[in-house]
Amino acid sequence: MFSRVKIKRGALDHFRKKARAAFPLEIQAYMIGKIVSVNEIDVTKIVYTTEYGVQTRGSVSWYLSDLNAAKIKASKMGQTIVGDIHSHPSWDAVMSKDDYAVCIRESYSIQGIVSVSNKKRTRIHFWTPNSALECQIVYI
Ligand SMILES: [Zn+2]
Repeated sequence: MFSRVKIKRGALDHFRKKARAAFPLEIQAYMIGKIVSVNEIDVTKIVYTTEYGVQTRGSVSWYLSDLNAAKIKASKMGQTIVGDIHSHPSWDAVMSKDDYAVCIRESYSIQGIVSVSNKKRTRIHFWTPNSALECQIVYI
């Protein structure tokens, strides 16, 4: 279980900005990073796509070729895709049933969820599929 997520504040602010700009549509990015210890994970890079395969108010997904390119990029950095980060337009920053299923299926360690309300306010939480408690965010 990863209870602490280390990430650059600027990287997260950039995601928030994109999530607000896309509102009411959902956006998604992938987090490249490394597992440091049993309760700590470092996110070193958030990767974006230029075009989504699916993008609605309630779902979003990448083209498989773009996702595979992100996996290769992570591997070249000696790291992995530790999870995805996506927005929840007009909804809470909690994992949905589908979010949880994706984490299990893809063996993601963490998932970042950014709720966006009225294109202005964002709230972010990181989750791990092994715990009901949110992760602590440590800015680096
Ligand atoms: Zn979700």
